[in-house]
Amino acid sequence: MTEKGKTAAARAAMTGEIAQEVCDTARFLGKDSLDPRVMAALDRVPREAFVPESRRDAAYFNIPLPIGHGQTISQPYIVAVMTDMLDLRANARVLEIGTGCGYQAAVLAEIAGHVYTVECVAELGADAARRLGALGYANISFRIGDGRAGWPEHAPYDAVIVTAAAESAPPALIEQLAPGGCMAIPIGRQGEGQELCLLTKDAAGRVARRGVLPVAFVPLVSG
Ligand code: SAH
Repeated sequence: MTEKGKTAAARAAMTGEIAQEVCDTARFLGKDSLDPRVMAALDRVPREAFVPESRRDAAYFNIPLPIGHGQTISQPYIVAVMTDMLDLRANARVLEIGTGCGYQAAVLAEIAGHVYTVECVAELGADAARRLGALGYANISFRIGDGRAGWPEHAPYDAVIVTAAAESAPPALIEQLAPGGCMAIPIGRQGEGQELCLLTKDAAGRVARRGVLPVAFVPLVSG
């Protein structure tokens, strides 16, 4: 088999595993399959380009991997579930907090209109911008800074996704969410249980929160 064929097979095996894990966790998710657009996006993004050279062999395993600076690229199943929760339209404007290596941003950019992503570790953000530029993504904007303040210049956003765990949803992020929009965010203290939550804002600006899935994320840090 060619290298390209092997990669395609590994990626197909990964999406198969995700589909199985979605079935296994259907009681949490309230569904037993994800939006086909999400699965297709996962099938298009070359995850091997996002993991360290030394872990390329594991790029398509359904597991989180270290990306340096004590950070991790999320498990593909979690990336899939969080993307699915946002129910993105093709013209959606999305704010992501925690760029990391940029994998989640790439998956979002495959589906949505534009992705604004904020990372507090300058080197990770710069690497992600370089990587996603080289892969040809033209609909992602990058910012280095404290994501708890969001990115007010481009607000409001149809969807917000936070890929690090907070004790509560940062007020600025709720404010920058458009009426009718939603936010996926892991909530909980480090060392205690975290829960992936879906926050929705109705047309009148009222916010509701629903817990979806127990998870374990790195912390959303201050500064
Ligand atoms: N979405 C990433 C996973 C990121 S891990 C991916 O697909 O690879 C969480 C990321 O959030 C880390 O890179 C961490 O540096 C970043 N982070 C933590 N606190 C933050 C904050 N306050 N503002 C911005 N980024 C933050």
